[in-house]
Amino acid sequence: MASATAKMAFTMKVSQLTKHYGQTKAVDGISFTVPHASVFTILGPNGAGKTTTMEMLEGIREPDSGEIEVFGERLTKITRSAKQRIGVLLQEGGFEPYLKVHEVLTMFASFFHRAIPVGDILAAVELTEKSGALVRTLSGGQKQRLAIGAALINDPDLVFLDEPTTGLDPQARLNIWDIVSALQARDKTVILTTHYMEEAEALSDEVCIMDYGSIIAQGSPKSLAEQLGEETLIEFRGLDVSARAWENLQLFCKAARNDQMVITLETDHLTDTMEALFAWSRTHDFKLRDLTVRQPNLEDVFLSLTGRRLRG
Ligand code: ATP
Repeated sequence: MASATAKMAFTMKVSQLTKHYGQTKAVDGISFTVPHASVFTILGPNGAGKTTTMEMLEGIREPDSGEIEVFGERLTKITRSAKQRIGVLLQEGGFEPYLKVHEVLTMFASFFHRAIPVGDILAAVELTEKSGALVRTLSGGQKQRLAIGAALINDPDLVFLDEPTTGLDPQARLNIWDIVSALQARDKTVILTTHYMEEAEALSDEVCIMDYGSIIAQGSPKSLAEQLGEETLIEFRGLDVSARAWENLQLFCKAARNDQMVITLETDHLTDTMEALFAWSRTHDFKLRDLTVRQPNLEDVFLSLTGRRLRG
């Protein structure tokens, strides 16, 4: 079966998928293709419809309409046999605190026709030394690695990770990024949601941005950022900028915004704009604190499409 999947260009293809809750169009006719052995990320603000989408693709929630093609089969909802080849990271784990780590994995293994030996999963998520430890004694990062281990116990070809690193410290987050990269290296397909832009940029081959139940942009992180053209962004702290200084700022850049006390200037001519900015700072006696120059990221793409930030 796996080799048949490997020959296909995609693991999953979604057409016109829809889910309404009463008057709320949670997911409003979305279509996308998830390439084989890729990391495909769904990004969007709270309430965009990400979880509802993930749940329909995982087989936890039934769509109102639409079609899902997965592992070469066209379905209106995920079947039990498709579920055998799918892994789902459960939000917040919810494991019994007085079970041992290896007992949790053994229990999950019993749900599937095929399962990877528990020792191999422990090694994959770097929990071998914690095999006999009680769940309640694990750190946040270790609990999350256990939850990922449980999602991988059936050696799934398609893995759903809904916000896998939320609330983790930077080192624990990097550990999870390594697990995601290792999955991809083993020809597995990963569908991810995250609130962290740098995570989406670091891990994803493809990103689809959702807003109000619809897909508003889709592509590789690089191609999405390139939608903003040759633009460069200049940022600095925007506290105490006078009305006149703010007005003058607009004269030498393409656009300027002052958002959460950070001023961002857009320019297609970096050198000219920097020179004008230094002159402006002298004229208005304004200290340029935390001055940075950067290329647009996915947050900027979202902002330019919707006028809103991904995270409020
Ligand atoms: P978040 O990032 O906050 O998790 P999300 O992008 O995952 O948000 P969903 O949870 O899919 O978004 O919600 C999409 C819309 O559907 C929201 O308006 C939400 O209030 C609504 N919704 C979600 N689940 C239900 C439900 N069981 N009953 C009624 N409305 C729901």
